[in-house]
Formats: sequence, structure tokens, C-alpha cells
Amino acid sequence: MACRSNPRDGDHAALLFKNADIAMYRAKEAGRNSFRFYAPDMNARMSERLEMESGLRRALEENQLELHYQPKMDLKSGRLVGSEALVRWRHPVNGMIPPAQFIPLAEECGLIVPIGAWVIATACAQLREWLDAGCPEITVAVNVSARQFQREDLLTVISQSLLEAKIPARALVLELTESAVMTDPEKATDTLTRLREIGVAVSLDDFGTGYSSLSYLKRFPIDSLKIDQSFVRDIPNDAEDAAIAVLVISLAHSLGLSVIAEGVENLTQLDFLRERDCDEMQGYYFSRPLMAKDFTALLRESSRLPLDSPP
Ligand code: C2E
Ligand code: CA
Ligand code: CA
Repeated sequence: MACRSNPRDGDHAALLFKNADIAMYRAKEAGRNSFRFYAPDMNARMSERLEMESGLRRALEENQLELHYQPKMDLKSGRLVGSEALVRWRHPVNGMIPPAQFIPLAEECGLIVPIGAWVIATACAQLREWLDAGCPEITVAVNVSARQFQREDLLTVISQSLLEAKIPARALVLELTESAVMTDPEKATDTLTRLREIGVAVSLDDFGTGYSSLSYLKRFPIDSLKIDQSFVRDIPNDAEDAAIAVLVISLAHSLGLSVIAEGVENLTQLDFLRERDCDEMQGYYFSRPLMAKDFTALLRESSRLPLDSPP
């Protein structure tokens, strides 16, 4: 990686360094072995970024982050069996900011570590609230980013959150992407084994969009595969996507894993997946991610909601 500024980019050393620094960030963004020359418009983007970073830091301190929960339905029984916690930033001026707009930056600047720990603790506390309110026991899944997964303290964060909320480990699911576990599969196997010992479940998220080594997939102590929504969107019309979805279902089952489809938006997709033995589904067809209080109401009346006529 290299970065350059030249004498036209500033008339004193401090400014030259600052601009070289900005160019370095751009080069880093572009990935390994790249370089960037400084350009004045980089300045604007850089300050936007810094502003977002400090805003995000403040968001954590001032409780501006919140978790929304999307139901996961069992396709055979039609029951609500789980939820996925999805983070949002309720910005005091800009309103609700979706994760796609701040998670990548949080990953890059390291803030994903405290944000991720907050997500785990909050999801566990929410589960405790549901149990205390007499709701049926369901699972809650949290998304764990690659950077979080690689940290030594992940297991401590998880164990502490489970202990503090007094919830059984089996109720917590970690959603990890293929790239998070395939970057260093040996180390990942070790971490996954320790997670299995604690008793939390692991699901491979966005399955099929990254690259997976089948020999590792066979060895990883994981529990389920999550078919990415890009393969669900056009089934059954797109024959290739439909073939991939069927393949993932059969791959999961032959490895002894369960399989969940995300992004299910209509009954045709649901029927297709159900007929092909997919275990669970999640998607707008049944419900969008809900604020905690709305999810609680849904959970209360959920003992047996008919899947074919969503609320
Ligand atoms: P993901 O883990 O693949 O989550 C599924 C995304 O699909 C969510 O978007 C969800 O709202 C959306 N979705 C659910 N059902 C449907 C559907 O039927 N149709 C369509 N078109 N979309 C559907 P969201 O909440 O905007 O999250 C986007 C991504 O942000 C997540 O993708 C995940 O990668 C990341 N993310 C969210 N929360 C967290 C978090 O707490 N930690 C980390 N590290 N990443 C998170
Ligand atoms: Ca996910
Ligand atoms: Ca996805």
C-alpha cells in the first residue's frame, strides 16, 4: 500500500502530512496493494467520515442504538421459533439510520467491537424480558462481524451476557458470514469448538455469497446454514437461483445442519421452500424487523399463528 501527496497539496509540512494521511485512508479503503494520490475532494469525504465516527461513538454513549427483531418461523409447525436482532441508529437529527450505512465504518474503525458487545448484551437482556413476561421461549440471533469473531474476548463477552441475563446458552444464536470463518479456518474451528462447549448455536449467514471450503464446512461445529436472500428473491422463476436454494437445503441436511431461508417475501417462495424441506424462514412476507415492544406483542399472541395468513 502506498500514499502520495506532492508539494502542490499543501504549503507546509503539517498540511502535507495531513493530506498524505487522507490519501492513505483512501488507499486502505481500496484494499491491499493499492495507492492513491491526494485529491481535494478527499478532504470532504474524510471529514464526513470523521464526523460519522465521532457521532457513532456518541451514539454508543448516549444510547442512540437500538435493536429491532425479525421473527423466524418454523416451516413445518408454522410457529414463531426465533428472532434476529438487527441494529439501527436512531440519530437525533437524521432519524433512523440503517446498519448498511454505519456497520462498514464501525468495522473499519474498530467501533464494531463495543457495538457488537452491546448488541449481544442487549439481545440477551431482551430475551430475559420476554421470558419474565411469560412469552414462549424462542432463540435470538445476533450478527457477529469478522473482526469481533477474531477477538480473544468474544467468548467472555458472550458468557458474561448470558450470565447477567440468566438465559440458557441454547437460546443465543451467532450469525457469522462465510468470510468471517474462512479467513483463518484453523483458528475459526478452535473458536467454534469453544462456542459449542458454552452451548450457543452458530449459523452461517449469507450462505452461498462468499466462498466456503466444503472440507472445512464438514468439520466446523456449526448448527445451520442461512440461504442468502439473493437466491430467494427470484425463486421459483429463476431456475438457477432455485437450483442453488435446493442445493443449499440438501447440503445442509446431509451435513446434519438445519437450514433457514432469509428474504422470503411471498407465498410462492414460502411454498417452494417448504415443499423442499427448508426448516425455517424469515422475511417480509411474515414480518419486517419490529421494534422490541411490537415484537413482544407478536410473541405473546404467537403460540400458533397460521403461516399462510400473516398478521
Ligand atoms: P443480514 O444479516 O443479512 O440481515 C438481513 C437483512 O435483510 C436485514 O437488513 C433485514 O431487515 C433484511 N430483510 C429481512 N427480510 C427481508 C425481506 O423479506 N426482503 C428484503 N429485501 N430484505 C429483508 P438490515 O436490518 O438493514 O441489516 C443489513 C445488514 O446489516 C445485515 O444483513 C447485517 O449484515 C448487518 N447488521 C445488522 N445488524 C447488525 C449487528 O448488530 N452487527 C453486525 N455486525 N452487523 C449487523
Ligand atoms: Ca444475519
Ligand atoms: Ca443476508
